[in-house]
Amino acid sequence: MSIRENLAAIRAALPVNVTLVAVSKTRPAADVREALAAGQVDFGENYAQELRDKAEEVGTGPRWHFIGSLQRNKVKYVVGRATLVHDVDSLALAEEIGKRSGATPTGILIGVNMGEAQKSGVPTGEVLDFARSLVGVPGVILRGLMTIPPPSEDPEGAAPFFAELAELAARGRADGLPLHELSMGMSHDWPVAVRHGATLVRVGSAIFGARPPKITG
Ligand SMILES: *Cc1c(COP(=O)(O)O)cnc(C)c1O
Repeated sequence: MSIRENLAAIRAALPVNVTLVAVSKTRPAADVREALAAGQVDFGENYAQELRDKAEEVGTGPRWHFIGSLQRNKVKYVVGRATLVHDVDSLALAEEIGKRSGATPTGILIGVNMGEAQKSGVPTGEVLDFARSLVGVPGVILRGLMTIPPPSEDPEGAAPFFAELAELAARGRADGLPLHELSMGMSHDWPVAVRHGATLVRVGSAIFGARPPKITG
């Protein structure tokens, strides 16, 4: 199926209040343009320089999301390009994003660690205290939580983790914290995430096709 057909199939099943973030990592700018032409606006990247290069190549149109774990020395590639940074897990990182953002604040989500799938992320028990510490940081606007649950063959295996993230955000909101966005769900389990209250789903291979294995080294 084409990118256009894949997008149409997902949109047909996605509630209108859930934002589809098309994860275009490792994909050429031409694929982003093809998705844009099909009406897709939100795109996700998880390598900082790749986001910078692709944003420059594609030009106006996309709304970029940074979904990877971000090193402080790469914040400069992301700020000013990404509307939302999904995986913030330290005060130092939030402060660096805020400092670089200046008068135009950047939206951030707290990356929540729910097991071995995420090397980074804030342990669930520390999320609400961390959220409180982020509220006063200049240049960033805390908007919610994101997670990648531990891998499981069965998409339903992610359900308890999605439910836990939603519950954590609800507790935070009851305490006055601005945790309105829930970034959860990928190609294989986004319908499960939506059922548990996802407001942003991050879908790559179900739109653009299988990615070639990442060459490391
Ligand atoms: C690659 C990636 C995705 C998309 O994964 P697919 O399985 O291709 O949909 C979503 N979230 C993050 C953080 C990613 O790195």
